[in-house]
Amino acid sequence: MAGLKEKFRRMLSHDIGIDLGTANTLVYMRGRGIVVNEPSVVAVNQKTGQVVAIGTEAKSMLGRTPPHIVAIRPLVEGVISDFEVTEEMVSYLLERATHGSRKLWGPRVVVGVPSGITNVEIRAVRDAARNAGAGEVHIIEEPMAAAIGMRLPIMEPVGNMVIDIGGGTSDIAVISLGGVVRAKNLRIAGDRFTEDIISYVRNQFKILIGEKTAEMVKHGIGAVCPMDEPLEMAVKGRDLITGLPKEVILTDTDIREALSPSMESLIDSTRQVLESTPPEILSDIIDRGIFLAGGGALIKGLPELIELELGIPVHVAIEPLTAVARGAGIVLEDLQGFGDILIQNEDELPPKK
Ligand code: ADP
Ligand code: MG
Repeated sequence: MAGLKEKFRRMLSHDIGIDLGTANTLVYMRGRGIVVNEPSVVAVNQKTGQVVAIGTEAKSMLGRTPPHIVAIRPLVEGVISDFEVTEEMVSYLLERATHGSRKLWGPRVVVGVPSGITNVEIRAVRDAARNAGAGEVHIIEEPMAAAIGMRLPIMEPVGNMVIDIGGGTSDIAVISLGGVVRAKNLRIAGDRFTEDIISYVRNQFKILIGEKTAEMVKHGIGAVCPMDEPLEMAVKGRDLITGLPKEVILTDTDIREALSPSMESLIDSTRQVLESTPPEILSDIIDRGIFLAGGGALIKGLPELIELELGIPVHVAIEPLTAVARGAGIVLEDLQGFGDILIQNEDELPPKK
């Protein structure tokens, strides 16, 4: 009987995985794969309180809005800083994913959240998904979802190390037997790298560049190990002395220098996690290597740098930006099998006997 009911449920509802990232929100739909991939940005008209744009359109407004419109990134440093706006964003993206078709059964939703988030924040995520139309909401830690998305053998008695470098936070986690054995969450990730570039250009060239420009520089010539061919890029900004527009040529060496303190912090934190990892698991990690996910993993030369500094092989996920969403999708297929790794709220746990 249960089997038949489940079959109907599957026919009549969309089961969905969400990677609620600080930089990008992805929606995975069972049977269809990733159906939404948009920047986590919402533009709000402050006069009317109305949402003007969500996603790519809102991101293109960053730094270009008239005074009464603000482009908000509702998730700062991996946590929900603006609950209402997050809910609007999730609701809009779910609506788009399901083409607004009202389901007979609310979808089952698996949401990835940064590791180490508080119970209050977990509740906020749950409420946001519920209010956006979710039936059941299951929460999974992002590094765990990333590991599943990378098909690492997380349920086996084998140590797996994952570093998920997102926009607001980097999650470093050691996973074995379906549990997080050691973890560290730091606020040094893609956004910080972009800020590093802005500060460097300001200090070295006395030119102020915008966030979007700095991000383009990071993607284009951001390399933390010397490249075979030197890279360069012309950028425009405001000369801080004359106040007028000015162009400057940046090279990969500039960016390397700009990013070096952040890279050092990232590697130091990884070292700390390794130092507290039990020896058997550590030995697995040395054999199997460290796995990188998240957009920050795309910085050129990053795997080589970590490998050089820590003496452990480093692998980058095939599609680092979608690993968490794909992992959430895999969990969706077998919620029972993965039941133990999902996060439960204290007050939702069955009473202790
Ligand atoms: P989150 O999970 O926090 O939403 P993502 O995993 O989506 O973050 O990664 C977003 C970050 O990755 C941004 O800071 C973005 O600038 C960075 N990023 C994306 N592509 C690249 C690239 N090719 N090189 C360097 N950084 C990149
Ligand atoms: Mg992420």
